[in-house]
Amino acid sequence: MRRWGLFVVTCASCEKPLMTTPLIGAVEIRLFEDHLRSCSQHDPLPESPTLREVMRRVRVRIADPA
Ligand SMILES: [Zn+2]
Repeated sequence: MRRWGLFVVTCASCEKPLMTTPLIGAVEIRLFEDHLRSCSQHDPLPESPTLREVMRRVRVRIADPA
């Protein structure tokens, strides 16, 4: 079985680690949004942010294989 990497997501503003997850879907995006609303005051999210607007406020990298 192929081993896919994990996404490591951190906040682009405060650099707090938000999540390590094998996939990023609606539930995960929602959690990023919750953090961003309490965090990035200098770059607040719009009322109904697009996926692009959420994702440009977080950093996503692939976890190094163990
Ligand atoms: Zn943050």
